[in-house]
Parts: sequence; C-alpha cells; structure tokens
Amino acid sequence: MARSVLLIAGPPCSGKSTLAHELARPGDLVIDRDLIARQLGSSRTHMHTPYITRLAEQRTRAHLAALAADHREITAYVVRCAPRARQREALAARLGATVRLVDPGIDECQRRARAARRPPGTFQAIRQWYARAESAQDERALSVRRPCMDCGGPATSVRCGRCCERLRAGRPWRTMQARVCAEETHCWICGQWVDQDLHTGHPRSRTVDHVHALRDGGAVLDRDNVRLAHRSCNTGRSNRSRAGRAQRRTPLIVDPRTV
Ligand SMILES: [Zn+2]
Ligand SMILES: [Zn+2]
Repeated sequence: MARSVLLIAGPPCSGKSTLAHELARPGDLVIDRDLIARQLGSSRTHMHTPYITRLAEQRTRAHLAALAADHREITAYVVRCAPRARQREALAARLGATVRLVDPGIDECQRRARAARRPPGTFQAIRQWYARAESAQDERALSVRRPCMDCGGPATSVRCGRCCERLRAGRPWRTMQARVCAEETHCWICGQWVDQDLHTGHPRSRTVDHVHALRDGGAVLDRDNVRLAHRSCNTGRSNRSRAGRAQRRTPLIVDPRTV
C-alpha cells in the first residue's frame, strides 16, 4: 500500500463530502470539517454556529498538520472548500496530495441547496466560492497546471506554445498558407479586401489565421480551419480570445458524476 492522499475541493453543495465517503474504505482517513463539527455536537450537517465552526476549523487544521507531518503509508481524503487554485496547490503540496476539484457549476449547487433545504447562509457561501474562484489570478494558477494535448507538458491552454510553434514551422503549414492566399481575397474577420502585396510588418498585410486557434486545440492543416486575415484583425482577435480565456475558469478535474 502506498501513501495516497486526495484533496477534494469545491463549493458548498458540490458533493465533496459525499464523494469522500463513497471513496473511503474502512480504515481510511477522512478529514472533513463538517464531520468534525458534528462530532463536536453540532445538530446541523452544515452551516454550524460560529463557535462550533471556529473550533471545528482549528481541529481540521490540527488534523491537516498531523497528516502533513506523517509520511507513513496511508489513504486519506481531505475535504476543503479551497476556492483558489493557489490554496489548493499549496495544501496539496503540503499533504503530498492530488487535487480533485468537484465543480458542478453555481446553478447546480444552488439547486441542490434548495432541494436539501440548506440554511440561507449556504447560498451566500456558494456565491462567495465562485466569486473567489473566478479571479484572474486564480485562472492563471489553474491554467499552468493543464497538460498540453500534444506533448503533455505544462500549457496555459489546450496546446502549449512550443507545440504551436512546431506546427507552424514545417513545410506543410507553408504550403497551406500559400493555398489560402491563392484561394481567398478578403479578411474573414472584418470582411474587407486584403492587399497581399503589403510587406509583412504592415498592420493590413496578409496573414493566415486559424479559426479554432492552435492553442485552443484547433487543427493546423484543416482547410476549413484556416482563413485569410489582416495582420491587425488576426492579432486583435487572438488578444480578445486570450482575455476571454483569462476570465473563464477552467477546472483541473471535474468529477463527471457531479456535472
Ligand atoms: Zn505541447
Ligand atoms: Zn480584416
């Protein structure tokens, strides 16, 4: 038996505790603040009194410190809200844990809170989790961990920068560019004519653009995915999609059973 620690993170009502108790076998360790609160006498399953919450948090931290200091073989499940990627990563590093983010989406969490007749504070707690999770800083920390679809290395998007470079470096791509320039006359983004004689530094000069961007996993040599575009239109579009990516939250692992 090897040491195996799973950090299950996610918003209130995402099903973290349920998942931990489904996965845990007799003899496994489960560290779950709600469970500790109940052992301390809380009559509620969640949203305990402030006093019990504080005491349960202290005990949870003590259990986590003990787990971090103990390198023996153990199977443990740690349940934490940890909305920020940095929090999850720091805790996972301390515990030697892998992270499983359970994120069914804010609407589903709220629906479950209503269905389970959770106290009103639950809705605020769910909104807070998503508000914290959606900061741009968090997005960057999250996206760094994502493996590239081609090489499996760290990527800030679906495909890493090096693989995008490699795909654009070869003769097949140059042949495809020449074909697009011969077949198309107008910019697919702004719809205006492209003067193909302008030198490459000119903002209105010709470029060949991937409709579904390479970094987002688009096909490099699919004729339907490559279009003629002005340099400025192409750059503007990729800047906009980069900004969009920074705003979208991309979970590490979403448990399919909870989606
Ligand atoms: Zn790659
Ligand atoms: Zn254009």
